Formats: sequence, C-alpha cells, structure tokens
Amino acid sequence: MSHKKQTSRLKGFYQLDLEERHQELLERGYLTPEELGAFLPESGLPLETADHMIENVVGVFSLPLGIALNFQINGVDRLVPMVLEEPSVVAGASFMARLAREGGGFSASCTGSIMIGQLQILDLKDLSLARDQILAHKEDLLGGLEDLDPILRDLGGGPKDLEVREIPHSAIGPFLVLHLLMDVRDAMGANVVNTACEFLAPAVEELTGGRVHLRILSNLADRRLASARCTIPTQSLAFEEYSGEGVRDGIIEAWAFADADPYRAATHNKGIMNGIDAVLLATGNDWRAVEAGAHAYAARYGFYRSLSTWAVDREGNLQGELELPLAVGTVGGATRVHPGVNAALKLMGVESASQLAEIVASVGLAQNLAALRALATDGIQRGHMRLHARQVAVTAGAAGDLVNKLAALLIEENEIRVDRAREILGTWQEGKE
Ligand code: NAD
Repeated sequence: MSHKKQTSRLKGFYQLDLEERHQELLERGYLTPEELGAFLPESGLPLETADHMIENVVGVFSLPLGIALNFQINGVDRLVPMVLEEPSVVAGASFMARLAREGGGFSASCTGSIMIGQLQILDLKDLSLARDQILAHKEDLLGGLEDLDPILRDLGGGPKDLEVREIPHSAIGPFLVLHLLMDVRDAMGANVVNTACEFLAPAVEELTGGRVHLRILSNLADRRLASARCTIPTQSLAFEEYSGEGVRDGIIEAWAFADADPYRAATHNKGIMNGIDAVLLATGNDWRAVEAGAHAYAARYGFYRSLSTWAVDREGNLQGELELPLAVGTVGGATRVHPGVNAALKLMGVESASQLAEIVASVGLAQNLAALRALATDGIQRGHMRLHARQVAVTAGAAGDLVNKLAALLIEENEIRVDRAREILGTWQEGKE
C-alpha cells in the first residue's frame, strides 16, 4: 500500500492512459490487482458465472466502465464507477461534482428501506368491511410473516405494517388493495417482498372471504426515497463570456421549463437517469425497477414533472435538490454474483444500501446540473460532440493512434460526422499507398 492519499479529486486522471489509470487506483489502495481484474475484459465476468445468471446464455457483453471524480457526499470523498455507452456523461458528472465541491459537496439522505408489496383482493361484497377486518387483524397477519426470512429479521428488517386502499373505479369494478410494508435493509427487496405477499395471501382470503389475485412488489417505492442537495457558488458558474449570475438564472429558467411541461420533463429526467442508471449498472442493480419508480414518482401530483428543483438560496447561490425512490441493494440479486459489482462497491467504499442510494442520488443531481448548464449556455452539442468525436472516428474505421488523431481533426474542422471521418481516413490511406 502506498502513502498516496485517497481522494476523489484525482487531477489529470483523464489525461492518463489506461495503464496509468490502473496504477493510480492500485497505488492509492482503492482496489487490489484482483479486484481491478474484474473490470477487465480478459478477467471480468466468467462465462460460467454468466450461465448461472440468466437463461440461454451464449456469451457476455461488455460496456465501458469509467470513474466519475470529485464527488464529496456527506463529507466523504467517493470515486464513482459508471457503466454506459454514452460519451460526456462521466465528464459531465465529474465537472459538476467539482463545482458542487466548492459549495461543500453533496448532502444526501434516505428515508429508510421500506418496500411495498401489493395484494389485489377481488370478489368482495363489502369493501369497507373487508378493510376493517384486515386492519383489526393487522398484528396477527404481520406476526405470521415474522419468521419467513430469519436473516432479515435478525437484521431488524421484515414486515412492518399493512395499509388498505380502495380502488372504487376500474375496468372490472371496485376492489381492494392491501399494501404490505417491508423493511428490506440492504437488499433491493423484490424477491423478499414477493415471497411475503404470496405467503400472506391465504390468510387474507380467509379473513375477508375475497379472492387474492395479484401478489407483487410495487416499483413506486415512495417509502424508500433518497435525496441529494448541493449549493454551487454563483462565481463558480462563470466561464468564457458567461457571468455566474447569468448561468445561474439560465439554469433556473431551464429547470422551470421541465417542471411545467412533460415534453421537456421527459428529457430532463432522462438526463438525471443517465447518471443514475450508469451507477446502477456498475453495481449490478435493477435499473428498470429504479427507472419505473422514478418516472411514476415524477407524475405523483397527477402530471409528469421534473424530479429535481433548482433555486437561488439566500446568499444568491444556486441550490439544487433531487428526490426519487431508490430501491437499490448491496446484497441479493446479481450484486454478489458479478465480480465487477464487488469491485465497484469496494471502489466507492460503500457499506450499506442507503449509502449507495445517497451516492446514486448525488450523481443524478450532478448529471442534471451538467445538462442544464450546457443547455442554458453553449447548447448541449458543443461539449458532447467533442467527446463523441472518438466514437465517430472508430465508427469510420480508425484504430490505434489514428482514433485520437482523426477525432482531433474532426473537432478542429467542426465537422464531427462519420462521412467526413471516412473521407479523411480515405485520404490518409491513399497518402500511404
Ligand atoms: P435476494 O432474494 O437475492 O436477496 C435478499 C436476501 O438476502 C434477503 O432475503 C436476506 O435473507 C438476505 N440478506 C443478507 N444480508 C442482508 C442484508 N444486509 N439486508 C437485507 N437482506 C440480506 O434479492 P432481493 O433484493 O429480494 O431481490 C432483488 C432481485 O429481484 C433483483 O434481481 C430484481 O431484478 C428482482 N426482481 C425485481 C422485480 C421488480 O422490480 N418488480 C420483480 C421480481 C424480481
């Protein structure tokens, strides 16, 4: 172990080559060589392990894993692994985390780890009577589930409460929905909750005389919210010809658009999910579950709006907040099966699902800021296309040193297009012959 300090502020990391970046992680003690190996194509997810994960496996499929820098969350520096195919996301998150750092970093929190399971109760003669019967026997019903998962019980988790909702109008008429609230601790919780719902159903049928139809987790995990806040000093927002105040106000105007218009909100929230999904993928989490919960939560007031809010604080600085359901796990599902997940959690120094959710929410907020800042100033394409140029060069057929050389020329010409890249490559090849 070297005496190099652990910090998320790794200056010049983007300028290092792959080998040097690996050395940096090893020398700072973030990863052992074996853990680092889990990120490499030649020693990553073994085919045999993959064969146990899903059905009809024929191979494994790789995506880039990059590290977002500069994150400081609740006073702790965190390196954040992100897995995705889209350029400029990792750079955007890292840059905004640096700005947020100037305002004290991110402060993030979670409301707990309660997931909701649903039982659909049909064929009831009197919904109110059935509701009263369930609530009168709440303790018995919950007690019957207590020993279902001894590991969870010993960790202080398990069944916590029952709630009943009446659905007065539907295509099949009125029915009752029973919500089982379960504390799933460090698990995402879908299997735990689904098992408990199925186990609970016969007792509910007996009690109410109804027929329990569906028994399944809800992805609208609004008892498991994570939130992140940050303050960006106005002067830190200034660049080139843009004043700090101008950028700040432009960001708030851009946010107000998303908060008022679902067409814009969809894209605004997609930008937030760019950051969130990438960390979820790196940590083996169910990103579809989080996506579903996030968008349902964004529509909780009856219309679809922004998941974030941006405003000016008392000192005139830019203040942002993001809140969304985050059902993430550090145990269960694929998390302990995929070797890359263990390395990703180690890299972040994550010890619990709530810590992971706090990091994920902070990355989402940073990503949102990156998009709003670009949109409110130069437009999104300038920065993005510069970073996209290398992918364009590869698509055109460049390899090795030619990738960066061709990308640089495309940027210089301001013609970041595959047809132009092919043309240049063609002239270079002709030159050789
Ligand atoms: P799981 O069943 O694999 O693991 C959870 C178990 O781990 C718990 O039952 C507990 O016994 C044990 N455990 C050990 N240490 C724990 C700790 N510190 N905290 C909590 N539990 C601990 O996984 P899961 O989280 O119940 O289910 C997640 C999987 O379910 C994901 O793969 C997801 O894709 C899938 N899934 C999702 C949906 C949905 O989102 N609608 C539906 C079905 C399945």
